[in-house]
Amino acid sequence: MQVLDKEFELYITHEEILNKVKALAEELNKDYNGKCPIMVCILNGAFIFAADLVREVNFPVEIGFMKYSSYVGLDTVGIVDKVADLAQDVKGRDIIVVEDIIDTGYTMERILRDFKEKGAASVKVACLLQKPKKLITNIKVDYCALDIKNEFIVGYGLDYNGHGRNLKDIYILSPDDND
Ligand code: 5GP
Ligand code: MG
Repeated sequence: MQVLDKEFELYITHEEILNKVKALAEELNKDYNGKCPIMVCILNGAFIFAADLVREVNFPVEIGFMKYSSYVGLDTVGIVDKVADLAQDVKGRDIIVVEDIIDTGYTMERILRDFKEKGAASVKVACLLQKPKKLITNIKVDYCALDIKNEFIVGYGLDYNGHGRNLKDIYILSPDDND
């Protein structure tokens, strides 16, 4: 699969993704029974995951959106900016942050700090994918659908330079293209 100048290979099928999303939703259904959390989709990457996940939960839920952008400096220190804030008041609310992928964890560390400052009652993290070996921050990932290798992936909401988000399956950068 060609995306812009790079070649990618099929890595996780749409069917497998949906099965894992359903399994994650089952965990949430147990833990949020009787509650009414706000599920906060982190744009842009999590929009497809969030759309599938919210349709599998069976508790009352509000949906919100936030946008962050991360820049990686010359060293591995990530600088994360908040680009668009949540519309809802989160004071005293249970928050489930819905994120596409956790890599170093810098983005999620910033998101969690923001919610703490806003006075949320509880904040949990639900991510589609995690690259466990690359986590260098001290964040807790409460729910994760799939663990993956430390390679660059696209599809199911995730992009390569803005492209590939609409692919149904998840693709991994070809070894030949990994320079
Ligand atoms: P972190 O702050 O945890 O290092 O990075 C998280 C963000 O980096 C994700 O929200 C995502 O936007 C981006 N990212 C990390 N790994 C990948 C990847 O393999 N593919 C894509 N498309 N984005 C990634
Ligand atoms: Mg992202």
